[in-house]
Amino acid sequence: MSDETHFPEGTLMKGRKVVVMGVANKNSIAWAIAQQLAAQGAELAFTYIEAMEKRVRPLADELGVKLMIHADVTSDESMEAAFGTIKDEWGELHGLVHAIAFSDKDELKGSFVENTSRENFARSMDISAFSFVDAARRAAPMMAPGGSMVTLTYLGSERVIPSYNVMGVAKAALEASTRYIARDLGPKGIRVNAISAGAIKTLSLGGITGGRSLLSEGRKWAPLREDTDPAGVAGCALYLLSDLGKSITGENLHVDAGFHIVGFPDVEDEG
Ligand code: NAD
Repeated sequence: MSDETHFPEGTLMKGRKVVVMGVANKNSIAWAIAQQLAAQGAELAFTYIEAMEKRVRPLADELGVKLMIHADVTSDESMEAAFGTIKDEWGELHGLVHAIAFSDKDELKGSFVENTSRENFARSMDISAFSFVDAARRAAPMMAPGGSMVTLTYLGSERVIPSYNVMGVAKAALEASTRYIARDLGPKGIRVNAISAGAIKTLSLGGITGGRSLLSEGRKWAPLREDTDPAGVAGCALYLLSDLGKSITGENLHVDAGFHIVGFPDVEDEG
């Protein structure tokens, strides 16, 4: 999808250094955001996990991203080394994009109460929620007033969505964490926000049983009658990461073709 999207060029992010965590391939939401930020003049660093390196490197080359850093968010050593490299190479940071989530796909189906194990509950929370707290703590000392952080969440935190199960719980923790981080970093002039994106066809969505129905049903219910466009999510990220988003912090902005406002689908008029 992002292949067809034109990101208008500009200077909104000129002179800004942004770490983007979570590009896995061309369908990743982080990739759409990276393209948008680059088109507006940002200098980017990508963090990646080993399994994704082959796919991420050509994408980094496409945008002229020189800083490619291995970072597994489950490892303190890996995170320490990654943010150490950013400090050594850049010394300063203006933006952080956190687009990372994981859960065992065997638990993203059927009954939440029956299928959720202690181990996967903890791992899902660690990778999908704590990692933002950890990354924010490491990024903040490099940021001056005007710095901005953005994470990606989903409506499954607020409402019960079939199969989303433990990920919904992790996203609720992520959104609450966003507010607490925003409170702590606000006095330093750093803004912290979440974007609640509608369903988008990515690797992550593929791990959710019935993920395709989230797309097709979502399209039917959403006021705009369309899928969420990654370009819209990227535009929102640009807004929040640039000075356009001044005075906004601790917010959770829905970019989902309006899906979240609908309580019940349209019904036939029975006269
Ligand atoms: P994606 O699979 O492209 O991205 C997920 C990323 O998480 C990958 O880059 C993966 O490498 C990374 N990751 C997983 N485990 C990691 C670890 N231990 N250390 C470091 N990185 C790790 O899928 P996406 O849909 O672009 O997901 C990005 C974010 O957007 C996620 O937080 C996801 O929950 C959220 N989101 C997705 C949708 C959707 O429908 N696709 C909707 C709303 C929110």
